[in-house]
Amino acid sequence: MQSRPTSDEAIHILGAGLSGLSAGTILAKAGREVHVHEIRNDSGARFDGDFQGIENWTSGTNLFKEMQEWGLDPDAFKSTIFSEVDLVHPDDVVTKPLTGPDGAFRIVERGTDEHCIDQGFKRMALEAGVNIHYGMKKSPEECHIIAAGPKDSSAIAFGEVFETTHENITVFQLNDKLAPGAYSYLIVIDGIGLICTCLWRKQKKSGRYLNETIAWYEGHYELNRKPIKRVGGKGDFSLPNKYVHGGRWYVGEAGGLQDFMWGFGMRYAITSGVFAAQDILGGESYEKQVRKHLLPLVKASAINRWLMNRVGDRGFKKVANYWMKDQAKKGDGLLFMKWLYKPGLFRRCLWPFVRLGMLRRKKLKDGRKVLRMPFRPALKRDTWSPSRRAIEIGKQWDEHRKSGGATSFTESDQ
Ligand SMILES: Cc1cc2nc3c(=O)[nH]c(=O)nc-3n(C[C@H](O)[C@H](O)[C@H](O)COP(=O)(O)OP(=O)(O)OC[C@H]3O[C@@H](n4cnc5c(N)ncnc54)[C@H](O)[C@@H]3O)c2cc1C
Repeated sequence: MQSRPTSDEAIHILGAGLSGLSAGTILAKAGREVHVHEIRNDSGARFDGDFQGIENWTSGTNLFKEMQEWGLDPDAFKSTIFSEVDLVHPDDVVTKPLTGPDGAFRIVERGTDEHCIDQGFKRMALEAGVNIHYGMKKSPEECHIIAAGPKDSSAIAFGEVFETTHENITVFQLNDKLAPGAYSYLIVIDGIGLICTCLWRKQKKSGRYLNETIAWYEGHYELNRKPIKRVGGKGDFSLPNKYVHGGRWYVGEAGGLQDFMWGFGMRYAITSGVFAAQDILGGESYEKQVRKHLLPLVKASAINRWLMNRVGDRGFKKVANYWMKDQAKKGDGLLFMKWLYKPGLFRRCLWPFVRLGMLRRKKLKDGRKVLRMPFRPALKRDTWSPSRRAIEIGKQWDEHRKSGGATSFTESDQ
C-alpha cells in the first residue's frame, strides 16, 4: 500500500507542464506546501506556440465542465471551439464531420505567451500558492509526483506556424504519404495558421514531409502563408505496470497516459494530475482511478493504433467513408469518435494481438516495467521524390531560418 506524504510535508513535483501544474494547483488549494521543479525557463517552453486540440470524445463530460468541478478555471487561457472540421480523405475528397454546440474540440495555444494554456495553468498554480522553480534540475527521487512528460519517441509531430489571411478553420487529413501512418492538420485562428504533419513511422528527414504537406495545403486553401517558425515534438506511448511506484505518482505522459491513436494527451495529463492530487489529499487511490477511468481509453487507443498500423490509404479511406455514413445516420460526427474509444468486446478480443504485435517490454531506470510502442521503421513507400513546390517551400524556410526564423524542434530532438 502506498504511503501518502503527511499533511505537514512539502510536496515536490517534477515538471511544470499541464499534469504537474494541475496536480500542484489542487494540492495548494487544499492548503499544502507545493514545489514544482521545471527544467526549462517557463511553462509551455517545450511547445513554443503551436495549436493543440482538447478533445471532447473520450468522456461523456466536457473537460471544461470537469475542470470547473475540480476548481480549475477553463477561462484562464484562450480556447476556440470548433464544431466542424474539413476531413480530407486520402484521395483528396473533402467531407465535413459536424458536432453539437459543445464542439468536437477546443483549440488552445501551447507556449509562453499570456493567452496560452500553459500560462493559464501557471497563473492558476501561482494564485493557489504553488512555488514554481524554473530552470531547475531536481532528481526524480526527491519528488512525490513525476510529471516530466515524454522520455522516448514513439512518434513525432512537426509543423510550421505562419501568418495567413485565411478565416478560422480546422482541417484534418488522413494521408499515409504526407503523414506516414497518421494524419496532418491545418488550424487557422485569428490570422495565425499551423500546418502540422504527424509521423508514426520514423523518417530520416522529417522536414521533407512537412514541406510536402504545406505544398498540399497551399494547393487547396488560399492561405497567403508567411512563415514565422517551425515547431514540433515527440510522443511517448507506453503502458506501465504501475502508476504509483517507489513512493511516486506518475502523471501525464511520464505515466504513459497518452493517446496511441492520435496523440491527444492533454486531457489525460490534466485529469491524471487531478487524480494524483486527490489521492495524496486522502481521496480515492490514484492507481484505481487511472485503471478505471483512463487506462481503458488508452488501451482502446492502442488497439486502434495497431489496426491503423496495418492499413494504408485504402484503409484510411474506408475509415473516412464509415465516419461520414455514421454521421448521416446519427446526425452527429462526434459519435463515431466516441465509439472509437469504447473498449467493447471486439477491441478487447484484439488486445492479445496488440500486446504481442505492437508493444515491447522495457524496464525503465526507475524500476517500472512498461509495454512500449517503439517508433516504427520507415516503409518502402515512404521514399518518394518531392514536388517542385515542396522543394521551393524548403528553400523558403531555409532563407527564413537564416534571417532569424526559429525552429524549436529538430531531427536530433526525436
Ligand atoms: C507537436 C505536438 C502536438 C500535440 N498535439 C496535441 C493535441 O492536439 N491535443 C492533445 O491533447 N495533445 C497533443 N499533444 C500531446 C500533449 O502535448 C501532451 O500529451 C501533454 O502536453 C502532456 O502533458 P504532460 O504534463 O504529461 O507533459 P509536458 O506538457 O511535456 O510537461 C512536462 C514538463 O516537464 C518538464 N521536464 C522534463 N524533464 C524534466 C526534468 N528532468 N526536470 C524538470 N522538468 C522536466 C518539461 O520541460 C515540461 O515542461 C501534442 C504533442 C506534441 C509534441
